[in-house]
Amino acid sequence: MYKEIPNFLPGRAVVFDGVGKPFRMVKGDVQVDHAISLIVKNRYTTLCGSDIHTFCGHRQEPDQVVLGHEIVGDILWLPPGQIVTDFRGEPVSVGDRITWSIFAVPPEVEASRPDIPQKSEQLFKYGHAPAMPGDLFNGGLADYCVLRPNTAFLKISPEIPLKVAATISCAHATVKGALRVAGDIAGKNVLIFGAGLLGISCVAMCKEAGAKWVGLIDNDEVRLTWGGKFGVDEIFTFSQKNNNFPWPDADIVFDMTGHPEAMKAGIESLALGGCAVWIGAVFPAAPVPIDAQLIVRRVLAIKGLHNYNYDDFLSAAIFIENNHRKYPFEDLVEKEFTLNEVDDAFKYASESKPIRVGVIIS
Ligand SMILES: [Zn+2]
Repeated sequence: MYKEIPNFLPGRAVVFDGVGKPFRMVKGDVQVDHAISLIVKNRYTTLCGSDIHTFCGHRQEPDQVVLGHEIVGDILWLPPGQIVTDFRGEPVSVGDRITWSIFAVPPEVEASRPDIPQKSEQLFKYGHAPAMPGDLFNGGLADYCVLRPNTAFLKISPEIPLKVAATISCAHATVKGALRVAGDIAGKNVLIFGAGLLGISCVAMCKEAGAKWVGLIDNDEVRLTWGGKFGVDEIFTFSQKNNNFPWPDADIVFDMTGHPEAMKAGIESLALGGCAVWIGAVFPAAPVPIDAQLIVRRVLAIKGLHNYNYDDFLSAAIFIENNHRKYPFEDLVEKEFTLNEVDDAFKYASESKPIRVGVIIS
């Protein structure tokens, strides 16, 4: 059932020391002890938008951190002598490919809202924790990831390409959460602001959920061209013209951008009884000027979601299992780098703004 490995296993981790500083390759040992749940050999990490925000200084992280939280890997070590099951209840073995939740709630903490575990106190988040000598392997840009107890992990098919599987645990799970918050999508008209991975994934998920019509809006015409490959009905270049938008009103508006002008336009594009779901606003920005009368008279709702809960994560994995051949998710990872090329990967990601860049962890 399990494989013995030495009490210490040497590996590499790439540490981010702050804006403008080069990434630093650190060698360290995985510590095998009772407090961990399992050890993963990382296979592939995609750089999420929030990693790029940290790199550019738009988000604050610990002084030294191993970035990367869209990770996929293979189980390297399991606690000996016990049957370990994944979040679906399936037994797992060494060598199985898994994806895992971005967060782990410490066992001693009781979530005040079990349906929102991702906002529990003392939450641990992979790719966001301080990198320390005894706790180095806690992010995606490293050879290993040591999983804490209470991490939801899922065995996934090795047939899912690594570059697609990596994106389940942040982008797709967050979008699944956004759809849950939005309610029933079937038969609805949907507008999506932002044609990054979240927006493109949202297009495909809304179509699979039976949306009547899906429009995608961005100010980047190159990114918009992806929409057609994921089932969009119409694409629009963002316009700030008040009350004269080139797109029709919608029952549901998703904002993946976090930009006040886009969120304002989204509210103004809601039909009677419509709902706006905001998930992009995860960095400091100006307030959104909203006409309160519009909210009241049109009977509108605004809902926010940060990250996702366990069910969203499972739904996202199932969505990718069922649809990774139907839509060209693989092509969205536009360039790949190795762990030795992390500086180049971030430089390319921040300057060329591809949908995703991937880092192969060999
Ligand atoms: Zn992310």
